[in-house]
Amino acid sequence: MTKKLENKVAIITGAGSGMGAEMAVLFAAEGASVVGADINIERANEVVEKIKTAGGKAVAVKTDVSKLNDIKNMFKVARDTFGQIDILVNNAGIMDDFSPVGEVSNDEWQRVFAINTDSVMYAMREAVKEFLPKKKGVILNTASVGGTNGGRAGVAYTASKHAVVGITKSAAFMYEKEGIRINAIAPGGINTNINESIKNAIRFGSQRMQSGLGLMPGVGPATAIANAALFLVSDDSDFINGAILPVDGGWTTY
Ligand code: NAD
Repeated sequence: MTKKLENKVAIITGAGSGMGAEMAVLFAAEGASVVGADINIERANEVVEKIKTAGGKAVAVKTDVSKLNDIKNMFKVARDTFGQIDILVNNAGIMDDFSPVGEVSNDEWQRVFAINTDSVMYAMREAVKEFLPKKKGVILNTASVGGTNGGRAGVAYTASKHAVVGITKSAAFMYEKEGIRINAIAPGGINTNINESIKNAIRFGSQRMQSGLGLMPGVGPATAIANAALFLVSDDSDFINGAILPVDGGWTTY
């Protein structure tokens, strides 16, 4: 059977852990050359080693996605190593401290927006420069059910992911005649290391957020996101553009 991403080069941010790591492994198994970007280079290197051991192609690049120069370097490494870029997955992200707007600090707001949102704009701007001349390219963003609903996190995370949804839809519309497809996944509760990024959970916000957890159908595996991601970056989804796909077991149906 032909592999779904043969001869494709995919940049994946946050590839050292959780969903990004599973995407990297799956995309490589489907024939892609993977550029695994992460601020945690040790974890990214482990994922790259796993891919290479399985016979795949991958390179790790230390990247703080909130820094424009790091984003530019990530594209340079992709070009220098594999000669082209076909797929960009903006997946790196962090949780907030569940602060409601009345308690959010400037630091929490800016940190979350820099990593979850500014990064997506920076990388998409670079990717579009790459994709427009060849009229071909795919972008996938990891949003969240927090990007479509109000009670899944604090204000900073919720607003940062709503912005990712907005960037996705705007870009999908703008470039729909230019051969560039842009979609997002909105994961529900997924078993990853994301809780490591919670610094100092705010009690009131956590309690409000937890009131909806009883209706969560369960915590899904990161492989569920990787499978959806493979579909959205492959030609199997070539008529899907601007979609925000919930992968949440149905959590957002209430
Ligand atoms: P994770 O913590 O397991 O993985 C995130 C990766 O991003 C880590 O390897 C981390 O080192 C990296 N990262 C963090 N800050 C970075 C930075 N500044 N620059 C580069 N890399 C950075 O978490 P995950 O759950 O796999 O998260 C992936 C995405 O999924 C995030 O955007 C997150 O917001 C989103 N998401 C997660 C859940 C969930 O329940 N886990 C739900 C909805 C959305």
